[in-house]
Amino acid sequence: MRYLIVGNGVAGTKAAEVIRKRDPKAEITVLSAEEVPFYRRPALVDHLSARVPLQSLWGRPEQFYQEQRIDLRLNARATGLDAREHRVELASGEVLAYDRLLLAAGIASARGYIPGDTLKGIVSLQRLADLNTIRELAQLARQAVVIGEGVIGLEMARAFRELGLPVRYLISGPRFWSNLFPPEASALIEERLAAHGVEVQPEVEAVAFLGRDGRVRAVQTARGESIPADLVGLSIAMRPSVPWAEAAGLQVTNNRVSVDEQLATALPDVFAAGDMVRLPGETAPFGWLRAWHQGVVAGINLTGGAAPLRRRTITVSTRAFGMPILAMGDLQPAGRNVKREHGDYPTDGVYKELVVADGRLVGALFVGEVSEAGRVEELVRRQVPYAEIDPGLLRALFDVRYWRGGGSEVLCPVCKFLVQVGEEAVRSGELTCPICGAEFLLRLTGDRFMAVLE
Ligand SMILES: Cc1cc2nc3c(=O)[nH]c(=O)nc-3n(C[C@H](O)[C@H](O)[C@H](O)COP(=O)(O)OP(=O)(O)OC[C@H]3O[C@@H](n4cnc5c(N)ncnc54)[C@H](O)[C@@H]3O)c2cc1C
Repeated sequence: MRYLIVGNGVAGTKAAEVIRKRDPKAEITVLSAEEVPFYRRPALVDHLSARVPLQSLWGRPEQFYQEQRIDLRLNARATGLDAREHRVELASGEVLAYDRLLLAAGIASARGYIPGDTLKGIVSLQRLADLNTIRELAQLARQAVVIGEGVIGLEMARAFRELGLPVRYLISGPRFWSNLFPPEASALIEERLAAHGVEVQPEVEAVAFLGRDGRVRAVQTARGESIPADLVGLSIAMRPSVPWAEAAGLQVTNNRVSVDEQLATALPDVFAAGDMVRLPGETAPFGWLRAWHQGVVAGINLTGGAAPLRRRTITVSTRAFGMPILAMGDLQPAGRNVKREHGDYPTDGVYKELVVADGRLVGALFVGEVSEAGRVEELVRRQVPYAEIDPGLLRALFDVRYWRGGGSEVLCPVCKFLVQVGEEAVRSGELTCPICGAEFLLRLTGDRFMAVLE
């Protein structure tokens, strides 16, 4: 059986591993549009700042592809799909035949949405190669601006600060992540950004980029202002990195390729996974761990299995300048009797909230500290009645006097998996993420653990 995987990110690589385990005779070809093999994309800015050396960025050891008998083709961009003939075209003109195809090409910020957005100095951060572009442009820049209120926008702000530039973060809403988070959580994120030298400017809509000599010089706003900027981080209009998807017959809904619960697309023998796909009813199709899980399920189903996807409740799992942010379940349940429990928070840079609808736990948010998140996730998944939650857990969650650190969890600074802090880790001060393998240090700052890359 010939398996072709478009994408050597986390979803594509996990799928290839699973296929090899389940089908020792499989012919596996993996395509990447980049010049380097699979790496830990969320650690890009830590690599820029030299906290993560290049050898720790790689997702698999050098000999992996040979050992697994995977034909990895770098610099091999897929440019078209003929599903009837079971063929994929490459930019080089080569045509590859397959029996089963997995599309796992990720997403990228599309251009052409704001006039002037192709000027030099307007960048996005998606690939390792983007770091060099950003470094070079930053040398001649004096004022950076970030547009796009997502995880990647936050990371670009961090990258620009690491390079010593003043940063203005333009957001269209009244406060950071106002469509997702309560005001208390937004305030903590904004405080964190301000403490790291990022000036958040609310209710600013960019309508054009103004340039001179082909390079961006300013952002023009809907209110007619002109904000000086010679480096702009743009992460809006995120689209699948296969612009030919619809032409090939794939169903694209709300800017993502539609798949069913088994990651099958509308085309025979074509599956898709990772950031580029949307499951039925899914609102936040993004994230490293989500792509990791989907890679596993895709690998099983491509080889004839029928593994349904266990939907993840975690919708946001990231760090804003080192501050962990974890959201799970439904934070904005509509049309129900909704209560928000947040105990003593916000306090001391931490906010924790449980969202209860019609008496059941439907969502939770952790900002600044995630000790109890694993236990809460299980309860959110089962939507347990609030009255049945262990009072000990509620005390540990909401009454800061009861926080003891024992049985804590921290977010892996690389893939943002919730890692248990065992006694040994507390003793040694060192932890290894069981998912991505990143090694990091455990620091007790004040009365809570922080995961630190050094
Ligand atoms: C700077 C940064 C910080 C991030 N931080 C976080 C975080 O804190 N938490 C979190 O959960 N997620 C984070 N993410 C997102 C996370 O990295 C993605 O969710 C995850 O990598 C998606 O995996 P994927 O396999 O779907 O796609 P990707 O990892 O994007 O891989 C796509 C692969 O497809 C290849 N490709 C693309 N187009 C083609 C083509 N036409 N032909 C052939 N190959 C192609 C690419 O070269 C690449 O190999 C971050 C991402 C970035 C860039």
